[in-house]
Amino acid sequence: MRVLVLNLGSSSIKFQLFNMDKHMVLAKGLVEQIGEPEGKISITTNAKASQSESLHIADHAHGLLKMQEKLQVMGVLKSLDHIDGVGASGRAGGDLFIKPTLITPEVIGHLEELCPLAPLHNPAHLAGIKAMQAQVPNLPQVAVFDTAYHQSIPPHAYMYALPYELYQQHKLRRYGFHGTSHDFVAQEAARFLHIPYRNFNAISLHLGNGASVCAIKDGKSVETSMGLTPLEGLVMGTRSGDLDPALLSYIGQLTNKDTASVVHMLNHESGLKGLCGDNDMRSIEKRMAAQDKKAKLAFDTYAHRIRKYIGAYAFVLGALDAIIFTGGVGENSTKLRHTVCSGLENFGIFLDEEANANPRPGIALLSQARKLPILRVPTNEELAIAKATVQVVRRL
Ligand code: ADP
Repeated sequence: MRVLVLNLGSSSIKFQLFNMDKHMVLAKGLVEQIGEPEGKISITTNAKASQSESLHIADHAHGLLKMQEKLQVMGVLKSLDHIDGVGASGRAGGDLFIKPTLITPEVIGHLEELCPLAPLHNPAHLAGIKAMQAQVPNLPQVAVFDTAYHQSIPPHAYMYALPYELYQQHKLRRYGFHGTSHDFVAQEAARFLHIPYRNFNAISLHLGNGASVCAIKDGKSVETSMGLTPLEGLVMGTRSGDLDPALLSYIGQLTNKDTASVVHMLNHESGLKGLCGDNDMRSIEKRMAAQDKKAKLAFDTYAHRIRKYIGAYAFVLGALDAIIFTGGVGENSTKLRHTVCSGLENFGIFLDEEANANPRPGIALLSQARKLPILRVPTNEELAIAKATVQVVRRL
């Protein structure tokens, strides 16, 4: 079965084509700067051939046409008719979509209603779905939502302590994100530790440009750090995470900005970038090694927030089988994992410094023998989406 996985951003399309029977990635690529004067498409096949071309890419439909053309030219695929299903990552599914969902006209209508919850991502998702429908009308498309895994969070954890009418009338509540990744790495970790997923309790740390923590009890999400939007929670690449909500109007007064501009600042000019001008953890670590004080402050603030959440979620769960690090920073930063886990021996957390400095490839155990397992688990959201797509398509 061939499955095309699409991750549709406001100005980009990441794609991966899988042969699920052979457990192979046939090709992967990226369409960038959609709508800009000069865009770019790049693609690599499993035969290690790669091509990249700069050109104007007017919209998502044009980007998908170029993707199809490249897949044909490079001999990966004769046409999109040779695909069995498309899996697209959906950001905000609200409380409507709690499992991978076959796209129908009714689903498209609901997705349009949900656009305010993910104003950048959901419109792009819809544009991609409609463009694929226009190109290959009978191809089943499946939406896999980043919010779906968190639908098991109980009301006392998802409610904001706001006037109840706001929840009743406008569905204002915490939804969480990164669910596909938290679920994937937790399943991998449970398998690695030989614990049935339905009995598995863990704290999963997805630390990429966006970052979130998830408390997992009996294989289900019971609490997560992102909220109605992906702004809440940890310090991220450019997002502030948690702060005093009164700051919004106060910053507006101080800087003469309206609320939308302040929210833009919290999303795009804050976090690591706001604190030290840089949101790439690799260069922050290099600057720290050269005694850069702002870089150290940014790193310490980032790590401190993670430690606070681990402490809180350990109490939410009551029992813990593992702590999982994933995402670009979680998988790769020895220093961050060391800073987050040090000095916690009283709580049963003992990092094996040697394993942490040189983790084996794939899933790696980073804790000392017979102590609480600390794992580095590479995430693979695309594979998770491809597997979910296969399950839906098989039932048709
Ligand atoms: P996204 O959320 O965009 O998918 P990623 O999961 O790829 O992001 O994570 C990007 C982050 O991972 C960046 O801050 C990058 O600097 C960081 N990162 C990648 N490799 C390393 C490394 N070897 N050491 C420290 N940080 C790293």
